[in-house]
Amino acid sequence: MSYSMYRPGSLAEALDIRRETAATPFAGGTDLMVRHRGYKGTGHRIPGPLLFLDRIDEIQHIRREGDQLVIGAAASLSDILAHPDCPPVLAEALELHAAPAIRNRATLGGNIANASPAADSVPPLLVLDARLTLSRSGGERRLDLSAFATGPGRTVLDADELITDIRIPAAGKDALGVRHYYRKAGTRRANALSRVSLAGLARIHGAPGELSLADFRFAFGAVGPTVFRIRELEEAALAGADIAELRAVAAGRIRPIDDQRSTADYRRAVALNALEEFLGQLAAQQGETP
Ligand SMILES: Cc1cc2nc3c(=O)[nH]c(=O)nc-3n(C[C@H](O)[C@H](O)[C@H](O)COP(=O)(O)OP(=O)(O)OC[C@H]3O[C@@H](n4cnc5c(N)ncnc54)[C@H](O)[C@@H]3O)c2cc1C
Repeated sequence: MSYSMYRPGSLAEALDIRRETAATPFAGGTDLMVRHRGYKGTGHRIPGPLLFLDRIDEIQHIRREGDQLVIGAAASLSDILAHPDCPPVLAEALELHAAPAIRNRATLGGNIANASPAADSVPPLLVLDARLTLSRSGGERRLDLSAFATGPGRTVLDADELITDIRIPAAGKDALGVRHYYRKAGTRRANALSRVSLAGLARIHGAPGELSLADFRFAFGAVGPTVFRIRELEEAALAGADIAELRAVAAGRIRPIDDQRSTADYRRAVALNALEEFLGQLAAQQGETP
């Protein structure tokens, strides 16, 4: 199959092409190339034409803007990982993403736009309260990452838009007293898509021996149609609910499925055990100097 292709050198040009043709954005291609080959279970072939994003410098940056870390949608995972401001919880997920060759090509925008419930960067970004900039010719809008994916492979991105950046508030960067957690369960350590992917962020305070949380966030990947946080769970944790109660709240909300990668029972067990493990780590760290 052949495709028409565009390879613009500026964002303005890319957005014009998107408006005129609704061409499929092609960033690192590490999802799209697999889809192009049409292997069983990898979805449909790419709807052409293709819009290559690799020559657009304006969406490759990683920089601080005021109190935010702003990551261009087409920055590679390797560049993000090498950046001194990369939040540790995100770095842990990126280190486990495939292998260096894939990380050199794959982008954060691609991982998000692909809208896989098993996208490994999304749980860390959700607990970091990340926001997205979606741009179109002549305008842009910002929205919480949590509002972007609506189901497997489905998002609120319009046909004339591109994700142009990902914004992480500074409060989300590991600061004094902030503890983080990341757990990926895959078939093997490298080059495997996740069976379950989980991230947590918390701020603890108070005396040793009694867990007291000032902030608690936990995101669940691959146990529902999208990656998600459970507000009720986080509020219950802050209100002092014990681990059994928190497990029960989470168990009532996660919806794992059986598929070629894993079973629903395995995913449920790993997700709930990970939640318990993070809470246990926080209790053990209570009173330690961060
Ligand atoms: C061997 C292998 C191992 C992998 N391991 C992992 C893993 O461990 N964890 C994981 O989460 N994923 C994994 N993946 C999947 C893939 O690497 C990631 O999802 C990656 O981040 C996708 O980024 P990309 O730039 O390659 O996206 P592309 O393939 O270029 O695009 C993916 C989707 O996003 C859209 N898109 C890309 N950029 C934009 C943009 N700026 N605006 C709007 N839409 C856009 C494209 O149109 C397409 O629909 C793996 C893939 C392979 C082949």
